[in-house]
Formats: sequence, structure tokens, C-alpha cells
Amino acid sequence: MKPPLHAVWLAPLHGRLRKPPALFLDFDGTLAPIAPRPDTVRLDAEGRRLIRTLSRLAPVAIISGRAVKDLRARVGLTRLTYVGNHGLEIDGIGFRYRMKGARRWRRRLREILHRIRSRLDVIPGVLIEDKQVTASVHFRLVKGRARRTVARRFVACVKPYVERGRMRLRRGKAVWEIRPPVAWDKGRAVLWILNRPAFRGRWPMYIGDDDTDQDAFRRIRGRGVGISVGPGRARGAARYAIDGPAQVRRLLTWVAAQLSGSRAADEDAASSAVRTIMVAMNSRRFYTNFTHLP
Ligand SMILES: [Mg+2]
Repeated sequence: MKPPLHAVWLAPLHGRLRKPPALFLDFDGTLAPIAPRPDTVRLDAEGRRLIRTLSRLAPVAIISGRAVKDLRARVGLTRLTYVGNHGLEIDGIGFRYRMKGARRWRRRLREILHRIRSRLDVIPGVLIEDKQVTASVHFRLVKGRARRTVARRFVACVKPYVERGRMRLRRGKAVWEIRPPVAWDKGRAVLWILNRPAFRGRWPMYIGDDDTDQDAFRRIRGRGVGISVGPGRARGAARYAIDGPAQVRRLLTWVAAQLSGSRAADEDAASSAVRTIMVAMNSRRFYTNFTHLP
């Protein structure tokens, strides 16, 4: 049997949660399971209830490689900070961040996308997503040998731009990301957000499954807690690892219960949702299925 999360690291986390946290949660593969088509992913009603409850107990930022507008529609909640395009777009409550030189970069990105579309649109399964500030080329649905063709054509399209430092390229899960050549990532975005009034003085808990989340894990080391998501996934710079979105949900449910417990004395913030959660906490089942990597 896997060691229960409780024994290994829920205890130190419990101690930490006495100080006010800020929650940074990746979306795809963390809050919602990854689907073959990214346009079908949505936060379900249960997930929405949980995030709404959490957002009443601590500031919550949802982080994604998606555009903010898209992300907001898929999560469907107000009172959250939305971080899109890997941190290049931030819509908070009373604050906002956009990259400098966005217009010039936008023109270049359109030019790059035009080249890519003309070579790749004909290959079945390729999904090209224009996210305004960045773009994604998904190849999860491309079959067998065609993947090699996709790779070859894609590289030919972007090589001149990459070599001249006119764009950056990052590989994700069955996806390439085209980004502007700026020194900015999820980690820098998290530090920037932690300096906004609603987040200041709080310690960051960051949960994510992407390679790009490693930037955030590195940046918050010593200051907060990073939790990497994915079956058998190496932690990288994260302190802990858990299996998948179902476990993330259990962990967040537990976090909500801790936070509402610490506030219960002064108010009725412990909503009925949280009270239900706390009842669930007493069942030992909750503590199983977490992975601990020593
Ligand atoms: Mg993700």
C-alpha cells in the first residue's frame, strides 16, 4: 500500500496552513483531466463549488497556458485571479498585467501562424490554437508516422525565428508552444502576483502538472510549497507529488477544511459545502491514493 499522504506530508502542511496561504492552481491536468481535444475541457460543477469555497478562504489564482478569456469561460467563476498564456496575461481583482510590445509581437505571431497553417493544416489531427499572445500546435490526435512529418514541417517553419531570437519555443504534452522572446514565465508571474495587495504577506501553494509549472516550483522554493501532479511523475523542483486531478481535488478539499476550521471561530465562512467536506475528512478513505516520493 502506498503511504497515506496524511502520515507523510499532510502534517507539516497542516502546520503551515495556520499562516495564510495563496493558492496557485494549474488548470488542464490539475483541476480538470486532460482530454484529447483541449476545447472540450471544463471545470465540472463539483470542482467549481470547491474553488468557490476556497476563494472565500484564501486568494486563488488559476494558471494556464490558455488565453485568459478562454480560461475564464472554462472555470466560470468570478473573484479569482486568472493567469493565462503561461503568465503573460494576468487578470486579477483590481490588477492586470500585459507584456510590453504586445502589438508588435502580435503581428509577428500572425506571420508565423500563417506559415505554420500553410504547411500543417493539411495533416489530419493537427490543432492550431491562436491564443493572441502565444500559440499552440497540438499533435495529440496525429497518428503514427504523420507525427514525424508534423515535427519536420513545424521545425522548418519556426527555425528562422527561433535562431534569430524572434520567438521562443517550448514543448509541452503533445504540444508545441510559440511564445514571445521575453524573460517571463509562470514563476515570475507568481512572484509578481504575490506583490499585489490581496496576495501580499501570504505563502504560495502551487499545484501543477506541466513542465512550465517547474518554473513556478523553482521560484517559490523556500517560500512556499510546490506540488507536482501526475502518475509516477518526478517532482522536479516541487516539494511533493500527487497522482492526478482526483487527488488534487481531495487535497484541496482538505485545505478548504483546514482554512475554514482556522476561521470558524469568528464567522460563518464555514459554508455548508465546507461542513460537508469536513464530515468527509473523517472517513479514512480520503487519505489513501496519494503518492509520496521520498
Ligand atoms: Mg496543466
